[in-house]
Amino acid sequence: MLLDWFAVNARRLPWRDRKGDAYAVWISEIMLQQTTVAAVVPYFERWMASFPNVHALADASLDDVLVHWAGLGYYARARNIKRAADLIVSKYDGRLPSSVEELLTLPGIGRYTAGAIASIAYDVDAPVVDGNVARVLSRLYGLDGDIDSPLVRADLWRLSEGAIPQGRAGDFNQSMMELGALVCSPASPACPICPLQMPCAAHASGDPTALPVRLRKTHWVQVVDCAALLEVERRILLIRRPDSGVWGGLWELPRATLAEGETRKACASRACSERAGLVATIGDLFGEIRHTVMNRRITLAGFAASADHEALKLLARRTDVVLAKPSELADLALASPQRALLNTRLDQGLFA
Ligand code: SF4
Repeated sequence: MLLDWFAVNARRLPWRDRKGDAYAVWISEIMLQQTTVAAVVPYFERWMASFPNVHALADASLDDVLVHWAGLGYYARARNIKRAADLIVSKYDGRLPSSVEELLTLPGIGRYTAGAIASIAYDVDAPVVDGNVARVLSRLYGLDGDIDSPLVRADLWRLSEGAIPQGRAGDFNQSMMELGALVCSPASPACPICPLQMPCAAHASGDPTALPVRLRKTHWVQVVDCAALLEVERRILLIRRPDSGVWGGLWELPRATLAEGETRKACASRACSERAGLVATIGDLFGEIRHTVMNRRITLAGFAASADHEALKLLARRTDVVLAKPSELADLALASPQRALLNTRLDQGLFA
């Protein structure tokens, strides 16, 4: 019944047009982590145009990969994809392995992604449990324990595996994910049109939204980052972050996190000295961008700044520093908040 529903209702998505292409499944699944389908589609299409297969990806520079990822966030995903592509070429001749065990040895591939690649690309009877599948299963079977607890997680994987019709894992797993995305939504499940309505425990209870149970609440942390915009000869100073961390390998304005008791201008000044070794004069605030990374609610404040022009030009000899023209910004891997902040300043008429 579920597979019939999927055959009729599956969304047409670019990675589904590449049936049996493990590379496309892999890239789409990683992109879809923490990101909506609508946001992923244009990224996926651009990615496939530039890196149509694992060999093309292995031949690309990390910089180029990050430029294609810029805006999707969680940049460790892109760095892991690049490392995994290098391994797939050197160890598997450019073909993704089909077994869950081998897939799990690749950087950035966990149990869910390994199951998705093995089942969707190779029809291996491997289960998947993502947020959508977990919600559907917990409602279908009436699991009322904390969905984040190890016990319930283990139950979910067991139930997911047990429900796979032999040889149909690819379609089955996708149908469960699709049902969660299109019908069994968190706040308003459309039970009257659901193909699982008959056996569903949560529907029978009369209150399907009571499941799943989640005891852990997000503990939000407020953070203020201060960035300094230094320019010389109509170029903007950008510094590349070290390869690890949330924004590893990306370019940004010199930036620091506000310390307790510190003023925002002092923080921007510290950013210049810590990141660039520069003594800068900090001018006016020109913009603020608010964004969220994991449990952090971040305000990114941008300040105009000035420093000795010769010192700035000397600094550009460093490999992790660039003096970029506004027209060159599109070719640099910048996180979305940094790009938004820069655009704010450019819209105000910097260099106009
Ligand atoms: Fe979800 Fe309702 Fe379908 Fe149950 S019947 S799986 S609660 S949409």
